[in-house]
Amino acid sequence: MLEIRCEHCGRLLGFFLGRAQIKCPRCKRINTIDTERQRAPVAAR
Ligand SMILES: [Zn+2]
Repeated sequence: MLEIRCEHCGRLLGFFLGRAQIKCPRCKRINTIDTERQRAPVAAR
């Protein structure tokens, strides 16, 4: 499982494995993730 953060505001969205789309509850941005193809998009804090 990878820690996924919003690519826009950096809010922690949760831990995911595989592909998903998560809407950030803070800035409403849709984050598309694919943990099979890329490592944590925002590993650094
Ligand atoms: Zn956000």
